[in-house]
Amino acid sequence: MGGTENQGSKRPHPMKSWPEDAQRSYLDMKGRMLRLKAERDALRRKHAGPQSVALHTLPVAALEDLTLPWADWMDGRIHRLKRGKDFSGEVYAVLEEARLAARVTGRGLLQLREQIGRKYQYVWVQFTDHAILAGDPCRCGGRTLTRLHPSLARCERCGSTLQLMPR
Ligand SMILES: [Zn+2]
Repeated sequence: MGGTENQGSKRPHPMKSWPEDAQRSYLDMKGRMLRLKAERDALRRKHAGPQSVALHTLPVAALEDLTLPWADWMDGRIHRLKRGKDFSGEVYAVLEEARLAARVTGRGLLQLREQIGRKYQYVWVQFTDHAILAGDPCRCGGRTLTRLHPSLARCERCGSTLQLMPR
């Protein structure tokens, strides 16, 4: 793009050896991909409609592999996800995704499905910092746990919220 050709430049990039038009179309393509991805992410964020949940049969490596914006719901609070508003598709697929989201982030999860009549279906989720077996100490070693309800506790030493899994 600049006027002077920097011939002695030592910046090895594989693309440098490509013909100029190939470099250009590569950059074109790359730019287009980035733009498409940005547009798709913006659409997702805008909540242009509920995201349809897919059933994941393969192992998932990251939150980004999942259909719903789980990171938004990992603030420690209880969230009620409504079918038709926060998600579309099957409730069991949402429950499964929530479990996967907890697994890939190392968190605990409390979840509940609720159905009111035929029309209204909800999934309640609450992510905790960790999951431990009931009776075990916190990850930090703390043993003073305040029970908030049968399967939820808070560690008084580090402040983590803990899902207590039955033994
Ligand atoms: Zn702790």
